[in-house]
Amino acid sequence: MKFESKVVHAGDRQKAGDFIPSTTPIYTASTYIYDSMAQLDRVFGREELGPSYARYDNPTTTALETLICQLENGAGALACSSGMAALHLAILGALIDRPKRMVAANIIYGASMKLLMNVFGPMGVETEFADPCDLAAFETAVRQTKPGAILVETVANPLLRVCEIDRIAAIAESANAVLIVDNTFATPVLMQPLELGAHMVVHSATKYLAGHGDVMGGVIVADQRNFEVLNSLSRTIGPIMSPFESYLTMRGIKTLALRVERQCSNASKVASWLATHPGVERVHFTGDPAHPDAATIARLFPKNLYGAMVAFELKGAGRDEVFRMMESLRMIVRGTSLGDVHTMMLYPPISSHRDVAPKHRERLGIRDNLVRLSIGIEAAEDIIADLDQALAR
Ligand SMILES: *Cc1c(COP(=O)(O)O)cnc(C)c1O
Repeated sequence: MKFESKVVHAGDRQKAGDFIPSTTPIYTASTYIYDSMAQLDRVFGREELGPSYARYDNPTTTALETLICQLENGAGALACSSGMAALHLAILGALIDRPKRMVAANIIYGASMKLLMNVFGPMGVETEFADPCDLAAFETAVRQTKPGAILVETVANPLLRVCEIDRIAAIAESANAVLIVDNTFATPVLMQPLELGAHMVVHSATKYLAGHGDVMGGVIVADQRNFEVLNSLSRTIGPIMSPFESYLTMRGIKTLALRVERQCSNASKVASWLATHPGVERVHFTGDPAHPDAATIARLFPKNLYGAMVAFELKGAGRDEVFRMMESLRMIVRGTSLGDVHTMMLYPPISSHRDVAPKHRERLGIRDNLVRLSIGIEAAEDIIADLDQALAR
């Protein structure tokens, strides 16, 4: 099945007794009963698939996991209560029987950085940070660190850099390290990292997968070997997604391909318009032929889909001017999330990169005049009109 068909069919229409629901219902039961004790014994022993206790399995969540597993072409998937819970479990699973060392991309989601520094660090896990877009430097960091796991993002926030996942996977393979890829920004519509050699893919389902600003969730998709470990850990720790969120995420994913296509096409229009605006100093967009990673994007992304995140720098602006511009937005939502059906604008220095020291932000190229847009599915004309009136203030 093609991707567009999988999103509406995979995981659904499982037999429940002697009928088949056309969409998966929300199962709220915490325990599951079988007529035969021998069968219950097999289910507890995981010799037979089936729910027994909701920390282990839930039919609604299992349906979502089946769906996302097929979208990312993995061996198994786990839905978690948040993107961070998913990433925590992924790193824990990767390191549990491997050296307690990590190499991570130097630009990653703020909470992911905190997870490595403030949670895994004090537990004895050392992390070396390196630029994944500089393959030689990244490979050197891996050679020197000999990590148990490597963490990179497919599209790095907020400057939207894209690294060569397949080449990093080869580096990971030769170093015997698990490659964990956070694919939240690209979505499986643009990239399927397991196909490129990654071992685990993590998503914040809160973003594009659920897509409507009403779900907190995360998923991990893994190859066979790593999935077994993750599944056992999940059953013990219990960082699981609730059946309500699983239902909403699955419902959201049904339009994922449609939404992302529209968001990407809107983003191309908005980025082109911004590039011609006299008040805009610089636009960062993965569809720009002058993007520093244009060759990688051409090689790894599908044709004509470049992602739906656009960052731009306001000419001669500082924090006050950015605040004023954002306060005058009428339709675009001043939100700290991304990937929703509505367009959102975020100011990295007070949100995603709040805890990064101003000097270090500057070094990363995140200046005080930078804002980030997550483009929605509205009419591109309306997004542009709102930006136009806000930029005129
Ligand atoms: C939002 C986000 C996360 C964390 O996900 P939550 O659902 O907020 O826990 C991780 N990585 C990236 C790239 C994100 O955008």
